Amino acid sequence: MSNYKSIKLSPGLYFVSTPIGSARDITLRALDILANADVLAAEDTRTLKKLLEIHGIKLKNRSLISYHDYNGSKRRPKLLAYLENGKSVAYASEAGTPLIADPGFSLLNEVLSLGNNVTSAPGPCALIAALTVAGLPTDRFYFEGFLPSNKSQRELKFRELKSYPGTLIFYESAKRLNDTLEKATEVFGGNRQGVICRELTKKFEDIQRSSLKKLSEFYCDKKIKGEVVILVAGAGNPDIHQSEIEQHVKDALKFMSVKDSAEAVALAFNLPRRDIYQLALQIKSGGD
Ligand code: SAM
Repeated sequence: MSNYKSIKLSPGLYFVSTPIGSARDITLRALDILANADVLAAEDTRTLKKLLEIHGIKLKNRSLISYHDYNGSKRRPKLLAYLENGKSVAYASEAGTPLIADPGFSLLNEVLSLGNNVTSAPGPCALIAALTVAGLPTDRFYFEGFLPSNKSQRELKFRELKSYPGTLIFYESAKRLNDTLEKATEVFGGNRQGVICRELTKKFEDIQRSSLKKLSEFYCDKKIKGEVVILVAGAGNPDIHQSEIEQHVKDALKFMSVKDSAEAVALAFNLPRRDIYQLALQIKSGGD
């Protein structure tokens, strides 16, 4: 039995998220769309063909059009013509969610300006996968995409983000990881927490959580391969003292549960919820 349904898709453009590693990380709806769209378009047609093969989806006589950053302006008129003729077009980038550090933005805007439908088949996305396992606050975060390859621009970017209070997320090439960590340590300070998520959902998945200084030391003599997401803890609120935090938690506990008190104080001061929850438990049980 196949994993997808035979359905009639409405005309429009479908942005389909595809796996960032493990081929089975694809939604059933994404398979339905890939199996039934009139036309398929992909950043890398070989990658999409392989994915279709794995999931038993036949291309049959449908067109599979290559669409990436370098041929976008030439290919858009062709894709737009299909839409104007009432066809359904499914677009997948090489991995993860289209438009997220991947092509699709200009296509989307032209499709919208012509009044055609756009639908998302959401799914894997490296930044979200990384954020959910990093152990850093998830209630507020900033995604930079790829860092500039130029060293001084990278430093400038870090300086710009130094006092951002939420978690920072960067895509980075493995070969620049050492340099980037060194610079991050210098700009954010060695005690700032960082997380390196490498090869998520793949066989050699590796997640390192530590201070930027320790991470920098850990990777400095290693030749790193694969795909990497770097996360850096936010600046938090350096002006608030532990005693003040404790007072806020005590005040909150007068009219809220431990969980809600921790939630409220952590949110108010952008502090890790887990730490404040532990503190609230201690205070509640009378410990120190
Ligand atoms: N559109 C994709 C998404 O939704 O995340 C991102 C594509 S971007 C061209 C590729 C970058 O995403 C990689 O250089 C890496 O920073 C990150 N990435 C993609 N897959 C990853 C994985 N399995 N593990 C860690 N990082 C990954």
